Amino acid sequence: MFGTAVLCMDGRAHETTVNFVKDNFNVKYVDIITEAGADVIVAKFSDNEPVIKGLKTKLEISIHKHHSKVITIAGHADCAGNPIDEENHRKDILAAVDRIKSWYPEILVIGVWVGNDWKAVKVEAS
Ligand SMILES: [Zn+2]
Repeated sequence: MFGTAVLCMDGRAHETTVNFVKDNFNVKYVDIITEAGADVIVAKFSDNEPVIKGLKTKLEISIHKHHSKVITIAGHADCAGNPIDEENHRKDILAAVDRIKSWYPEILVIGVWVGNDWKAVKVEAS
């Protein structure tokens, strides 16, 4: 019944991402894990960084206690925490998907982009 959304603290991206997870993966509740510029943090910060350790602690509660069946990692337009263009956000999102898959190979991991229209869409490798 649970899914998990890793995303930016930016409130503009929250509702659309939660609805994306509910609508696409048939879950009732979505655990929300926020960091400023979550996509670049997951893509590029090392395992030793406290933010990564904290993120994994939260993900493991979601996976083991709530039995989450999907983790999404989102980036969004106009991000103050990761101020890069859409193309580079999409690269960070795909790298972040691969990173989370390497941590939790048993869980479905999906990349999400929230553009200037504030609609959440799936990010796929081209
Ligand atoms: Zn942001």
